[in-house]
Amino acid sequence: MQYRDFGKLGIKVSALGFGAMRLPEDQEEAIKVIRRAIDLGVNYLDTAPKYMKSTSEETLGKAVKGYPREKLYLSTKYPTENASADDCRKWFEQSLQRMRLEYVDFYHMWGINWKVFTEKLDVKGGPLEFARKAKDEGLIRHISFSFHDTPEALHKLIDTGYFESMTVQYNVLDRANEQEIHHAKEKGMGVATMGSVGGGRLGFPSEKIMGAVAGGVKSTPELALRFVLSHPGVSTALSGMGSIEMVEENAATASRPDQISPEERRRIEAMHDENAKLADLYCTGCGYCQPCPNDVNIPENFKYMNYHRVWGLTEYAKKQYAALGTDKNPWIKGLPAHECIECGECEPKCPQHLPIMAQLKETAAALQS
Ligand code: SF4
Ligand code: SF4
Repeated sequence: MQYRDFGKLGIKVSALGFGAMRLPEDQEEAIKVIRRAIDLGVNYLDTAPKYMKSTSEETLGKAVKGYPREKLYLSTKYPTENASADDCRKWFEQSLQRMRLEYVDFYHMWGINWKVFTEKLDVKGGPLEFARKAKDEGLIRHISFSFHDTPEALHKLIDTGYFESMTVQYNVLDRANEQEIHHAKEKGMGVATMGSVGGGRLGFPSEKIMGAVAGGVKSTPELALRFVLSHPGVSTALSGMGSIEMVEENAATASRPDQISPEERRRIEAMHDENAKLADLYCTGCGYCQPCPNDVNIPENFKYMNYHRVWGLTEYAKKQYAALGTDKNPWIKGLPAHECIECGECEPKCPQHLPIMAQLKETAAALQS
């Protein structure tokens, strides 16, 4: 395993971090998976109160029992919906109890944006007041945030100076935070990346992505992880690992002294830019065509079509298409492309003047099993 400085915190973290959100449902099995990762050198492990139907913290706590506590860096999160110092204390105490820990290394303000920071966190009686007090008492070692907003907002959050580390989305399909990861490094912050293998999307094979590195790679996740780790500002790349095989494959990748060459990285970046342009030509995802009277989720269908046609992630795209409108994917509302009844209502609303009905037919032909 390779280890990297976690910003200027004086900590060395494993290049591969464990994201405990896709564990096997069987707790005994989940514990084995986590322990295999630790035995292979993973020392940064990240959970949250609501992962795995609220069982992830407990499972992680059981898995780390018996390992020297000071050798592991454990992270969990505060959901900021009803943000206040008291609410934060309640969630934090629950996390400590579930994990049976005396302290946590990284306590994240979970999934925040600039509005949440200014209106809910950085206020009198807000959660940061509790977090700072808990830090003074040694219950929290470092205050962190995870983030879902624009790169501009991320820049401002880094510049507040409140946080010692951050966990942000970054992968070969989504490079929006790339520059801000450099900025965080300059400011001495530790950076963990989430979605390192595309939130599962890059767990599927893509000849196109794999072919971007000279000599090829064994799998799409390998290339995805090597791409993330080739960013000098990334300290640890989190991967939500659900099996021992996945742990072993990722650990082998994160143990490489080399990741990808600057030339290979440039090639992947060029491929990304080209693919983003191609994807936008098919649909920018703006959503102006919605709602559809027959409930077809037009941008979501075109997103899957782009995974297939632009990125070569056909297996993943077909799986997502099949789940649309079923309880296999309750988070995404609306129906698949083949439910279009060609009423024609959507096309005049599209600022790109896309032939939506024809594209939906094409999408259904490519992805419907
Ligand atoms: S043409 Fe199809 S997708 Fe467009 S609004 Fe009508 S039913 Fe919905
Ligand atoms: S309006 Fe056009 S570009 Fe925007 S989501 Fe709908 S189809 Fe895509």
